Amino acid sequence: MTPVRASRPRPAWHVATVVETRRETPTAARLVLDVPTWPGSEAGSHVDLRLTAPDGYQASRSYSIASSTPAGTTAEPPAGQVVLAIDELPDGEVSPFLVREVRPGDQLELHGPLGAFFVWRPGESDRPVQLIAGGSGVVPLYAMAAAHGAADDAARFRLLYSARTPADVFFADELTALAGPAFGLDLVYTREAPDGWPDAVGRLTRETLAARTIPAAERPRVYVCGSTGFVEAVARWLQELGHAAADIHTERFGGL
Ligand SMILES: Cc1cc2nc3c(=O)[nH]c(=O)nc-3n(C[C@H](O)[C@H](O)[C@H](O)COP(=O)(O)OP(=O)(O)OC[C@H]3O[C@@H](n4cnc5c(N)ncnc54)[C@H](O)[C@@H]3O)c2cc1C
Repeated sequence: MTPVRASRPRPAWHVATVVETRRETPTAARLVLDVPTWPGSEAGSHVDLRLTAPDGYQASRSYSIASSTPAGTTAEPPAGQVVLAIDELPDGEVSPFLVREVRPGDQLELHGPLGAFFVWRPGESDRPVQLIAGGSGVVPLYAMAAAHGAADDAARFRLLYSARTPADVFFADELTALAGPAFGLDLVYTREAPDGWPDAVGRLTRETLAARTIPAAERPRVYVCGSTGFVEAVARWLQELGHAAADIHTERFGGL
């Protein structure tokens, strides 16, 4: 298979204008940003977002890019737009502002695209891909799943997604629409499941991970994203289940 690869966009500072804000979950918002100078980004990349207060105080945080425009795919959303999805941490400095206060027309500064290791490129390999997300950690993995769907790539994809409740599932409609023979979607609920849900409600366990992911014998490339504690537990279990460390790509969002 011939890799489809464009030269990687160079990170730079960009001015972004908010064009749409949407409630993503009870605690999270989706921001659609118009970034005329945006060079495009590979699925899984992130940006550093910088806010500047009227007194000059600045704060910056990293956010994964939910959209991607890899070579060989149809640009969705249109080139020059970047989509972020931000979960509010109740005592956080930046996320409550982004989720509650930001309005269409506001301007934000972005540095990116960043992250060359935690990306998925269409056409790079026929090996299956296992995505494993905890909470908002699904954002870069959704970008990969959407890029995979748009590229009609031959690799088989599967996502295991741990969310608090059905209402807390990010990109629920989009993920449901992607699900099919080429993209398996497995949900685990930690607090509350839909009526009649067959599985136990609770934190992801090693047993569920083993049962709901592509086995190590099939040598999947694995991408894990979520809070630091989630990622470390999952990466440890994956190695115990026989996955090679080199096949496990991780992105830690912080926290415990
Ligand atoms: C590469 C990368 C990509 C990221 N992408 C996203 C994304 O797409 N969507 C998103 O919502 N967040 C994402 N994050 C997390 C984000 O950068 C911030 O850490 C988060 O929004 C909290 O910022 P804050 O200023 O509100 O909280 P802060 O004021 O920085 O922290 C408040 C408290 O929360 C703790 N904390 C910080 N981060 C987390 C966390 N992730 N989980 C639990 N506790 C935490 C801190 O230790 C502190 O005690 C990403 C982080 C990284 C490194």
